[in-house]
Order: sequence, then structure tokens, then C-alpha cells
Amino acid sequence: MNFKDYVRVIHDFPQPGIRFKDITTLLQSGSVYKEAIDQLKQMVQEKEIDLIAGPEARGFVIGAPLAYSLGVGFVPIRKSGKLPGETIEADYALEYGKDKLAMHSDAIKPGQKVLIADDLLATGGTIQTSINLIKQLGGEIVGAAFLIELSYLDGRDKLDGIDVVSLIQY
Ligand code: 5GP
Repeated sequence: MNFKDYVRVIHDFPQPGIRFKDITTLLQSGSVYKEAIDQLKQMVQEKEIDLIAGPEARGFVIGAPLAYSLGVGFVPIRKSGKLPGETIEADYALEYGKDKLAMHSDAIKPGQKVLIADDLLATGGTIQTSINLIKQLGGEIVGAAFLIELSYLDGRDKLDGIDVVSLIQY
């Protein structure tokens, strides 16, 4: 299956010069969405995983079904102010813009093995910040899985020593 055929590239969103990879067109097709999650599962299923952590919002769309199919828990990483319990927070920079990410302080127990999942790896800022939060809670990062990797932004280089898998590369 050529997954790229199902990703819509939108020019100048959300800012001029950005070629946004819109995955809603892929998610719309039940068989393609299922195949994408199944293939990502195959890429990570040899790993020992206790939890999958995914940043909102598109990280949920990839991370939650992956967690469900592996039979492991899912932990949401959210924008500041969204989680109801006690949180830890960290600043992060995006390919465009800046924000704060948060996790519940008790979301991960020390020593738990965590796989990070998101729709897309661009500069790696989101995942680097997610890694910092998970490590602060004592979690062990066992890898990172993405639907899409923008190889030309070299985000992978920032995630030094972490096993990165992706289904679609640009
Ligand atoms: P990074 O932090 O690696 O620079 O950016 C990745 C994050 O921004 C991901 O959470 C992803 O959802 C979002 N993102 C950045 N560019 C795109 C894009 O072209 N398409 C999609 N779907 N998400 C993007």
C-alpha cells in the first residue's frame, strides 16, 4: 500500500511556506488507517512496552489505537491547562510556533518502559520535550513511532540513541 497517496499536502498552512501533511484523508479510509496502525504495530511489537505516550491531538489518533492493539496502556501528553490532576510541564518549540506540554505527575511509574507515538516527526521538538517529561517521571524510553517523518528536517538526529520508526518518509 502506498500510504503517501492518502496524505494530502496543503501549502501555506498554518503559515506561509509550510507544506502541511494532512493525515485526515488517510484516517477517513478505514482500511488504510487500520493497515497503517497494523504496520506500525509490527515495527514495534518486538519491544518490551508498558505504556504508549502520545502528544495531543494527532498523537492520540496514532498512539491510542497502537496501545489498544498491543494491549498496553496509553498516556496523553497535553497542552498546558488541559489535564485535571497534578502535572509536570515543559516548554517546547514547534516547526512553527511555541507552546507548553504537560503530563500527569503520576502517569508513569519509575522504570516503566514507554514508547512515544505521534502522527509526524518534523524538527523533533515535540518529541524531545515529551521525552524530557517522561524521563522526569522516571520512565524509560524504548522508542518512538511515527506515521510520517519529514527526513529533510533531521528531527531523528535530535532523538539521539532512541530507536525511531516511521511508516512514510518525505
Ligand atoms: P516537531 O515538534 O517535530 O517539529 O513537529 C511535530 C509536531 O507538529 C507533531 O505533533 C505534529 O502533529 C505537528 N506537525 C508539524 N508539522 C506537521 C504537518 O505537516 N502535518 C501534521 N499532520 N502535523 C504536523
